[in-house]
Amino acid sequence: MIGVLALQGAFIEHMDMLRRLGVASVALRQKSDLDRAFDGIILPGGESTAIAKLLHDLGMFLPLQERFRQGLPVFGTCAGMILLARQIENEPAAHLGTMDICVTRNAYGRQLGSFASYGDFADKKNIQMPFIRAPFIKQADENVEILAVVEGNRVAARQGNKLVTAFHPELTEDTSIHEYFLNIIASQTN
Ligand code: GLN
Repeated sequence: MIGVLALQGAFIEHMDMLRRLGVASVALRQKSDLDRAFDGIILPGGESTAIAKLLHDLGMFLPLQERFRQGLPVFGTCAGMILLARQIENEPAAHLGTMDICVTRNAYGRQLGSFASYGDFADKKNIQMPFIRAPFIKQADENVEILAVVEGNRVAARQGNKLVTAFHPELTEDTSIHEYFLNIIASQTN
């Protein structure tokens, strides 16, 4: 079972994607939902500052951070990637800060706020990648594996049980990136 953070943003689409893959999911809306037994968590896209504020207000921030530090698999898309980053460019503080990347928010400027692209992801060719006021990965430590680069920008990465994409695979028909996350869960050793 996968927990999908359901405070704000594109969480329904992730749950639909998991349903199509035959995987049960649970919407995480309040602190007590974190007591459910799940194997991984998806942090959806949306507005990272709004999601972070809600996480704090609902008392979910520290328990979630602790679970990720302990190695619970997590997949962050767009705002979810920003929430996981250790550093956010031009901002004084990070949020959960559990992944060794620095991200740039709204990295493509106003003109290119939202656009559709195609790119390779790990060994998968020509994956549809919708970007919506998206970040990119400005810097990554050596232990972070870059999985996708679009027009010179790093837009997907993995560090152990943590997977992030700057784009929104849940808004496409292609289930392969969610399957990649499920494989991380299936192959984990801890
Ligand atoms: N621009 C948003 C942020 O900074 C992210 C956009 C998204 O998740 N699609 O949080």
